[in-house]
Amino acid sequence: MPIATVNPASGETLKTYEAMGDEEIERRLRLAEATFRTYRTSAFAERARLMHRAADLLDEDQQDIGRIMTTEMGKPVKQARAEAAKCAKSMRWYADHAEGLLADEEPDAADVKDSGASRALVRYRPLGPVLAVMPWNFPLWQVIRFAAPALMAGNVGLLKHASNVPQTALYLEDLFHRAGFPEGAFQTLLIGSGAVEEILRDERVKAATLTGSEPAGRAVASVAGDMVKKTVLELGGSDPYVVMPSADIDRAARIAVTARVQNNGQSCIAAKRFIVHTDVFDAFAERFVAGMKALTVGDPLAEETEVGPLASEQGRSDLEELVDDAVESGATVLCGGERPDGDGWYYPPTVLADITREMRIHREETFGPVATLYRVADLDETVLVANDTPFGLSSNVWTRDEAEVDRFVRDLEAGGVFVNGMTASHPAFPFGGVKRSGYGRELSGHGIREFCNITTVWHG
Ligand code: NDP
Repeated sequence: MPIATVNPASGETLKTYEAMGDEEIERRLRLAEATFRTYRTSAFAERARLMHRAADLLDEDQQDIGRIMTTEMGKPVKQARAEAAKCAKSMRWYADHAEGLLADEEPDAADVKDSGASRALVRYRPLGPVLAVMPWNFPLWQVIRFAAPALMAGNVGLLKHASNVPQTALYLEDLFHRAGFPEGAFQTLLIGSGAVEEILRDERVKAATLTGSEPAGRAVASVAGDMVKKTVLELGGSDPYVVMPSADIDRAARIAVTARVQNNGQSCIAAKRFIVHTDVFDAFAERFVAGMKALTVGDPLAEETEVGPLASEQGRSDLEELVDDAVESGATVLCGGERPDGDGWYYPPTVLADITREMRIHREETFGPVATLYRVADLDETVLVANDTPFGLSSNVWTRDEAEVDRFVRDLEAGGVFVNGMTASHPAFPFGGVKRSGYGRELSGHGIREFCNITTVWHG
């Protein structure tokens, strides 16, 4: 895959980049190691000052970086600016909270005494250079939610971004540099995926985090496993969106549209499978389909656009194959389902009903604006269908019945249960999945501690 900006709205190649060679990679690894040696002992207050500065710069750049993201991967420009704003907010959150989240912990006095210690504590120390392999779908956010905690913890970052978002990748290095972080604290490696293994095997790289597809996660985690290096994986999702009879159906249907088509439907935590109780199925389906049909699809740089093109030609044909397979096996198309003529990798908002277990779409992730509808008879069947997926990232449930809420929170196999609302990440809450959605957590205290050496300090 060439490292290039290819506008998804036209298919036109706008800028191509040469991949970095061995010498440049070596120089950067050496720099990362050298920077870590001093950066690791920097004061939290100093890191926080730099992180706040980076957040301020990002706010100033919002219009420009928004347009760059939209040009590289096709998200509606309004959403691109919102992504930049969310990044700045999360950078500030970590700037303000990291010291508290990583403060020394004192074990219970009785346990300290029992261990024979006069004093004991747990200290969170940084690990070193961490490699981040990141996807194109939220080209700023996916990186910042790694970089903000990593840099605040005293680690240094090496970014291998997706090959189709090189301008955003270079922007990120420049942002941290302009903010005053030491050279080498955050570097972008312009490389293809084939170059990742050697870097990950390098002694100077201490750990890796990857967000993306399952094959990419498996490849990186296997190498890291071989080298006994820690990984965090945030992979695909096929989140259920459950609607029970007591729900506010109007709201549930309205938010369902956003939950499905945010980011042109290319979000790991987008709601993808809509599991609706038979008593309210028709009412929900009617409103949901009307909402999907009413979306403004078009040029992602236009302010009014709600759904733009998919990020790549491959992405569109993968999605199309899933829909075609389902339709051939008996799924009913309630709207969409046909790729439009013309330039750009557009795919219309689509709703399919009558889904069966044999269809690929039942098991695989739909990375685009395609929703599947399931009709269920009772609570048990709802839980069964919701969990009938290899993924376990998040889940959404709509009900006003507390007993049902308890059941979902107890039984849904996912890293999140969002009640009467759609899944969204927030810096204060842990983010990540179970099953084949990956392991480890990003964000919150859990996220910042993933790449720390959790050190026991014991005094005799
Ligand atoms: P990938 O998982 O292939 O790409 C994500 C990142 O991993 C990119 O930086 C990519 O580099 C890198 N990568 C890919 N393969 C390897 C490898 N073997 N070793 C090391 N690094 C690797 O995503 P795609 O763009 O191909 O999307 C495919 C599907 O993945 C989507 O349709 C969707 O289902 C899922 N996906 C999920 C995401 C999520 O947020 N959960 C995000 C993106 C995709 P390069 O770009 O150079 O190949």
